[in-house]
Amino acid sequence: MVATMSESTISRAECENRTQNIHDLSLQLHLDLHRAAEGDDFFPVHATWKFSSEASSTHLDYLGKLSELWINGQRQDPHAAHSEGRIHLENLRVGQVNEIEIQGLSRYSRTGQGLHRFHDGDDTYLYSHCEPSDARRIFPCFEQPDLKARVSLSISAPTTWRVFANANPLRQEDLDRGRRRTYFDSTPPLSSYLTAFAAGPYVGEQTTWHDQRSGNTIEVGVWCRHSMREYLDAEDFLTLTTGGLSWFCDLFDSAYPWQRYDSILVPEYNIGAMENPGLVTFTEKFIFRDDPTDAERAARANTVLHEMSHMWFGDYVTPQWWDDLWLKESFAEYMGSAASCATTQHTDAWVNFAGIRTAWAIEQDELSTTHPIAADIPDVDAARQNFDGITYAKGAAVLRQLVHFVGDDVFQEATRNYFRDHAYGTATFADFIHHLSEASGKDLGQWVYLWLQTTGVDQLTTTCEGSSVVIHNHGTPQRPHRLDLSVFHNYKGILQPLHRVDVELNGSETRIDTGLDSEQLEQSLLVVNDQAYSYCLAQPRAQDLALLDQSLSTIEDDLTRTVLWQQLWNLVRQGLLAPRHYVNMVSVHAWAERNATTLSTIVDNTRIAVEKYLAREHQDKVRRILARNLRDLLSEAVPGSDSQRIFLTGYISALGAVDAEDSPARLRALLDPAVLPDLARGPKLRWDIVCALRSLGVFGEAELAEEVQRDNTLNGKVRHLQATYCEPGRRKELLSRLTEPGELSNDELRAGLAAWNMPGAAAAEERTRVLGVENYLNHVSTWWETHPMEMANFIVRGLYPAEDQDGVAKVDQWLKTHPDIPRALQRALVESTDRARRAVMIQHAYPEGE
Ligand SMILES: [Zn+2]
Repeated sequence: MVATMSESTISRAECENRTQNIHDLSLQLHLDLHRAAEGDDFFPVHATWKFSSEASSTHLDYLGKLSELWINGQRQDPHAAHSEGRIHLENLRVGQVNEIEIQGLSRYSRTGQGLHRFHDGDDTYLYSHCEPSDARRIFPCFEQPDLKARVSLSISAPTTWRVFANANPLRQEDLDRGRRRTYFDSTPPLSSYLTAFAAGPYVGEQTTWHDQRSGNTIEVGVWCRHSMREYLDAEDFLTLTTGGLSWFCDLFDSAYPWQRYDSILVPEYNIGAMENPGLVTFTEKFIFRDDPTDAERAARANTVLHEMSHMWFGDYVTPQWWDDLWLKESFAEYMGSAASCATTQHTDAWVNFAGIRTAWAIEQDELSTTHPIAADIPDVDAARQNFDGITYAKGAAVLRQLVHFVGDDVFQEATRNYFRDHAYGTATFADFIHHLSEASGKDLGQWVYLWLQTTGVDQLTTTCEGSSVVIHNHGTPQRPHRLDLSVFHNYKGILQPLHRVDVELNGSETRIDTGLDSEQLEQSLLVVNDQAYSYCLAQPRAQDLALLDQSLSTIEDDLTRTVLWQQLWNLVRQGLLAPRHYVNMVSVHAWAERNATTLSTIVDNTRIAVEKYLAREHQDKVRRILARNLRDLLSEAVPGSDSQRIFLTGYISALGAVDAEDSPARLRALLDPAVLPDLARGPKLRWDIVCALRSLGVFGEAELAEEVQRDNTLNGKVRHLQATYCEPGRRKELLSRLTEPGELSNDELRAGLAAWNMPGAAAAEERTRVLGVENYLNHVSTWWETHPMEMANFIVRGLYPAEDQDGVAKVDQWLKTHPDIPRALQRALVESTDRARRAVMIQHAYPEGE
């Protein structure tokens, strides 16, 4: 199977040309999905486009089979008109309305792109995902964000199904053979990437929300497949949704711009969620089959509110082209945290942001492929690669800095004006900055240039001179920062806040008089960017590090502690703090960490420290130490607490990596509900334990078969596949399944890659044996060409094998001699190589392992 047939990219230049010529678009669309359950690979599509044109020719984008085409009533030869994913439209009426009628057959997908179909037991379900350019897999369209159309949709489906779309259903018509056709209201102007459909025997709950500004009653629902219904806490979802809607409407001084608000949770989904107006899709990972930690609940709330803010940022006012992807994503990230603080019990959202999202941003910003927040995106393939830590997390961190710089009121006024001026239209970077400059009365040109149009993160260090602290900015260029400097006094081993000052940094040095005497200052802990208002790499001094070693967990403020954990991890990543040292600090201080997100992050980091940043000869010793330390932490954790759950997850992973005599027995004991009785173990934790046991080669096929009987669901089958291939000796077979086009769904592929990359010495040795660097490089182009891009990305990144200097050099050489590979493949390889290079650098910085 060649999956990439005629999937040529879509360029900015061709879209700009269409923008010039095409206006006043509307679409009538019918999707006939009634045979989806019967195994048909294709579904019939009937589309009628109306638009006025300033040119005699243009084209539509479509990746299905075109069977009929009429242009203004004239039948055309569909074969001649359709090539390379484009339907060429000739002899259009210039300056007049044109009507294009099309019939085609589109393919159900299994990759999470286009109209995805999955089966759960005897049930069949469908949902769509179109961003950035996969609407063309479902129906013929103008696949670019700025050609918005009013869409009138109808769907034929079995009468037993529910159907969903962006708009309200208007009426239904029963047809023969158990079919029903549902007609939806016409949408406001909608970009192709935001069209959304779902159909199947979905179940869920509904409520209504009253929009005070428009007077409308909005239906709000939450839906999932049947077998997940028992785990869906619908009430939590609905409360979060209605509370968020009221808050955003007040904040933006705007009525809700769409007709309804369904949330649908689906499996085999490639990303976290998608902001389709009126029909937001979420990964099913947000339905918790095990008791969730507060970190998991907070992440879900944040995502719900992130998507909701997109109803304005992105959907109501859409970036004109993918260059300004950050215009919607950075804002949604920022708003997700701001709204979490304002409307949920997760008032620590900025702590979580500082702990996770900023780390993501810095990691990405240190890769050689980093790019300015405001990027240059020549085509949609490049856009697809930019849904990354820069566009999302760095953009949001910089936006937090911008709001701190101009003030909340100014930011609010600017956003309100921005929505008012561009309602249901599109906008650019310059439009938003214009509104912000107007509201603030400041010329933001230089600020915008330094923060949004350059790359990298400023490194900040401190020195003391008398009663002053000098903050040195080593960045190029040196960006202005407004942030907090805090001084903590060491009182008998407890770090207590003594002094906090709000400072503006300009240039290479900023001197701050603290009013404290020099001796006191020398003995205190200095924390730069204490409240995480700015985006920077602040480096603690040697004496700060000594204080943190002793007393990090005595700091009261969650945000300060999280900022410091983050600074320590950055030191590890720069080769300035031994990974072993970091593991020790976690072992000493983690018991007291109250914030579940921060705790999860530091426990996860210990695994990376051992598996990636220690040379192989030192790993086993530290793996054992880590497993023992996590066992101690687990035994001391409050029964039933988040900490207990987080330590248990870390402990299971650590035990599976340690080939010690007692590991299997310790793991098996954890399967027994009588052990740690206050900690409810759902299917997820159970599968984690089974995978760890399989890694040790001590959990046979018969036992495994029993496990899948115990969890006979779609999720259970995916975890079963993972567990199967965790066993030593199965990686050769696994490799051929992972790389065979069409063999695995996206969820299965990810589970297979998780098995491939299990921690531990035996797994690492087997990976090297089965797939060395040369072998990988010989195949990587073929894998890329024969899989859709999302899947290809997982494969190329997930199987990346180089982990020493020699391997890195081989990939570098290969990249030099293969300059013509697709840009997105190149980016995947360069990023993986950068990460491997960093790991090698850290390993060499500590040749003795500590
Ligand atoms: Zn988003």
